[in-house]
Parts: sequence; C-alpha cells; structure tokens
Amino acid sequence: DTRALSGPTRLAHLFMSQFIQPGDLAVDATCGNGHDTLLLANLVGPSGRVWAFDVQERAISATSRRLGQAGMAERVELILGGHESLAEQVPTPVRGVMFNLGYLPGGDRSIITRPKTTRTALDQALSLLLPGGILAVTAYPGHAGGDCEEEMLREWSATLPQPLFHAWRMGQVNTPPGAPYLILIQKAA
Ligand code: SAM
Repeated sequence: DTRALSGPTRLAHLFMSQFIQPGDLAVDATCGNGHDTLLLANLVGPSGRVWAFDVQERAISATSRRLGQAGMAERVELILGGHESLAEQVPTPVRGVMFNLGYLPGGDRSIITRPKTTRTALDQALSLLLPGGILAVTAYPGHAGGDCEEEMLREWSATLPQPLFHAWRMGQVNTPPGAPYLILIQKAA
C-alpha cells in the first residue's frame, strides 16, 4: 500500500515524489534491491537521468532487473562502486539524492555502509544538490555497526550551516528504540 505511512523509506518516497519532476537528475547512493532507484527513475521520467551506486554486484543486478521489468533501464546509470566516488561519477548538479543505509535486505549483513565513507558521500551529495534540492537519508541505528553510523549522522546533520541547509529528523514515535528514521535535508533555494 503506497499510502501507508509506515516507516522512513515510505516517508522518503513521499518527499521525493513532492520535489522531483520529469526531466530532473537524481542519485540513489545505495541502490540495494532497487526500490528507491525505481521510484527515482519513475519520477524523472524518460527525459531525466538517475545515477545509482552499490558496492555489491548482486545489488546492481537486482536493480538492473527491476528497472528492466519496468522498462526504465535506459534512464539509469548503474555504478558498481562506492558512493564515496559520487562527485567523480556524477557530472552535474541534481534535484534529489537518496541514501538508504545499512545492509542489503536478504543479503550479507556484514556488508554495510560505514560512517567514514557515508560521511564523505553525504558531503559530496550536498555539494551536488541544486538550490531547493532534497537529500533523504534513511538511518538504521539498530543493526550491528549501525550505532556508530547513526552517531556520525546525528552530529553531521545537526551542524549543517543555517540558512544554507534545512535539516530535519523524522521518525515514528510508536516504535522500539533503534527503529529506523529519516534525515531530510533541503539546500536553500
Ligand atoms: N535502496 C535499497 C532498496 O531500495 O532496495 C536498499 C539499500 S540497502 C539498505 C543498503 C545498500 O548499501 C546495500 O545494498 C549495500 O551493499 C550498499 N552499500 C554499502 N556500502 C556502500 C558504499 N560505500 N557505496 C554504495 N553502496 C554501499
């Protein structure tokens, strides 16, 4: 149910749908099984472009398959490599960037996003954003290794300069401790 407001990824999708227009450029920094890439590809339409990163071959092929089934493969550039090379790979400012941190659902739980590379990539993502553009980060403090990444994210997002960036934290309150939440950042127009 795409209208169910359950969990931060759904919320991220809502915000992306609000801000990304046909013809826009966007980035999925962690494509995993391709759900977020598919959303972005859908939103940018045939005249837009999406760059999607993952360090796992398995994630790239799952995403490729999903896009192929939807007939949207040609508007997405899939990059087998870390998002810390975002600035090198994406040549032009973009309207939106998504990060969905942690491990690949159904995959190897030891292959996770890491604080240092995530931070590098987040900084590059903010530089790449167009004025008014949106960065959505889904954080998972609950898994092994997720706690130090969450600590980095908290410090990083709270110290972004105002009025250049509007940084938000959104999480469901009727969930157990360690539940995932969303960080949403808009670059001022
Ligand atoms: N967005 C995905 C979806 O819609 O299915 C889910 C992403 S999953 C929670 C996190 C992904 O980040 C994993 O597939 C993992 O391989 C990937 N990852 C880990 N380190 C990475 C890095 N340095 N650069 C890019 N992706 C990375």
